Amino acid sequence: MSHSQDCIFCRIAAGEMDTTFVYESEAVVAFEDLAPQAETHVLVIPRQHIPSVDAVAHDHQSLLSELVAAATHIARDRGVDRTGYRLLTNHGQDAGQTVFHLHFHLLGGNALGPLG
Ligand code: 5GP
Ligand code: ZN
Repeated sequence: MSHSQDCIFCRIAAGEMDTTFVYESEAVVAFEDLAPQAETHVLVIPRQHIPSVDAVAHDHQSLLSELVAAATHIARDRGVDRTGYRLLTNHGQDAGQTVFHLHFHLLGGNALGPLG
């Protein structure tokens, strides 16, 4: 599945939601989180629909490194590489995943609370 009408992040990635991308490439887009949990809170996602990190397979290797490269690029762009940032992804209920399209949260710009 590469584009589901039922998946909000597929629709965002396809440009159907008029979302401003802070980063965009053939395979990856990034945009501001709707409900920011830190001064910088950007979501970095593949255009391809992958339900979560748990569904990442061997042939996603280059996509995964592209996602991380996009995140570190945005972090440098925001200057949070100097002050520190968190890059995280949630899978499933206990982690509180609410959107079932793989995404990395890039959080920074202020001191972040402890994990867990
Ligand atoms: P999760 O809890 O699945 O790890 O993270 C989902 C994130 O997506 C949340 O931080 C939530 O605020 C954000 N989000 C949900 N729907 C939208 C949307 O339509 N637009 C944007 N920009 N962010 C969204
Ligand atoms: Zn999707």
